[in-house]
Amino acid sequence: MDSLTLFITGATSGIGFGIASRMAAAGHSIAFNGLADAARVDEVKAALTDAGAPECRYYDADMRKPQDIRAMMQSAEADFGRIDGLVNNAGIQFVAPVEEFPTEKWDDVIAINLSASFHTIAAVIPGMRERGFGRIVNIASTHGLIASAGKSAYSAAKHGLVGLTRSIALEAATDGITCNAICPGWVRTPLVEAQIEARMEAKGTSRQEEARALVIERQPSGEFVSIEQIAEFADFLITSSAGASFNGAALPIDGAWTAQ
Ligand code: NAD
Repeated sequence: MDSLTLFITGATSGIGFGIASRMAAAGHSIAFNGLADAARVDEVKAALTDAGAPECRYYDADMRKPQDIRAMMQSAEADFGRIDGLVNNAGIQFVAPVEEFPTEKWDDVIAINLSASFHTIAAVIPGMRERGFGRIVNIASTHGLIASAGKSAYSAAKHGLVGLTRSIALEAATDGITCNAICPGWVRTPLVEAQIEARMEAKGTSRQEEARALVIERQPSGEFVSIEQIAEFADFLITSSAGASFNGAALPIDGAWTAQ
């Protein structure tokens, strides 16, 4: 496959950084976003360049702000001349019973995990249509398919992201564009580490005990899914010839979590 230009949101950490690193190593140019200080941005840029990205640029937008997202996407398209692939990965979690769920946290979770993808997709679709090629991968979650108590906003956002994925697939199916959702189970990233820490605090247990308990409760494999496995899956959807026929799918990679 020729070198592509990929825009990856939330690529300064965790799964997004993993996908960016893999795609950089395969020789693709990377436009990336995420909340990070200048030192971390430089670190990510250096890592992606060293991995093999022909070009790599950071775009600073808060994914809660629609106008900033639209402006960021416009700048990236102008800088690179094209965006062939979009990975909507930026996300946050907040856990609380619905009656205690702060309104501003609800708004943030919906804005970052769902609405931001509407804005990035709407911005890149016209160019993808013109060129007759586009690959959109939305990082949803098992919570896009089933739910957990305490995660009303996250479940609503991720179910919404799966719905958005299906609509976009239908709208662009004859234009060489695919749009799919990857639905990971537990992956050990800062987003999950915070949940492990909350459980350690509540129960007075060790990190190792809580990490193990957290996985075993929901994920029959008893193992975390790795960042590298998700990056490989995204790469498959973006660059493989089989990937061209995956469209509108919500694809679990979850050690049998959603088989239950
Ligand atoms: P992470 O915390 O390591 O990374 C999240 C990324 O999103 C970071 O780069 C962060 O800067 C960015 N981000 C957060 N708020 C932002 C904002 N307002 N504006 C711009 N960027 C912002 O977490 P992760 O686990 O790598 O999560 C990546 C995606 O994977 C998320 O959408 C998450 O819901 C999803 N996911 C994670 C797991 C898991 O177990 N870790 C499971 C299923 C789905």
